[in-house]
Amino acid sequence: MSYKNGKCFLCGSSCKETKTDAGHRFFVTCSNARCGKYEITQTVLAKLNDNLALREKLQLLANSRVSEAGHYDFSFNLDKELKFEWLRK
Ligand SMILES: [Zn+2]
Repeated sequence: MSYKNGKCFLCGSSCKETKTDAGHRFFVTCSNARCGKYEITQTVLAKLNDNLALREKLQLLANSRVSEAGHYDFSFNLDKELKFEWLRK
């Protein structure tokens, strides 16, 4: 597996990223095992740069993997609150 696409949005390590959900989301496979795989919406990404607390929260979540099979999906709900869901796939 190669990690050449870019830098992880959470930790800055090299990662492989793929656009999903018609371009609304990124599916990231980070070379740093602490992040591993996660999916994140463009709206959450837009907040990460000026919200360090949010980024730290997502890093902790990504690191608290539920199982080897699956990944977290990070998005905002209609109230602009962080929503995270474990997707088993
Ligand atoms: Zn990472």
